[in-house]
Amino acid sequence: MTFVVGENCIKCKHTDCVEVCPVDCFYEGPNFLVIHPDECIDCALCEPECPVNAIFSEDELPEGQEVFLELNAELAETWPNITEMKDAPADAAEWDGVEGKLQYLER
Ligand code: SF4
Ligand code: SF4
Repeated sequence: MTFVVGENCIKCKHTDCVEVCPVDCFYEGPNFLVIHPDECIDCALCEPECPVNAIFSEDELPEGQEVFLELNAELAETWPNITEMKDAPADAAEWDGVEGKLQYLER
């Protein structure tokens, strides 16, 4: 079992989540974060920290976001590890809740 970063993190990326992860299993791309599924210990600490509710247990992924399970696993292999919080993008609030953000994912 793992936790998964879902669509609403794209272009929001507040990084509050990385501060609480006891095993440092977040990885950072240009406008999105992912969780490494083999490193996540399923502690659930990160889920309530995300200001835009983008983190889910893999068995509670919202309908239509199933693809993010695979995406987190794939991108965690290539992106660098992130353990410290940084500023969110200046326009993060404008992107919160916007539908169909997968098309904006930068790799
Ligand atoms: S706190 Fe939420 S929006 Fe911010 S990087 Fe983590 S998952 Fe993405
Ligand atoms: S559930 Fe726990 S171990 Fe997994 S990513 Fe979140 S904080 Fe890290």
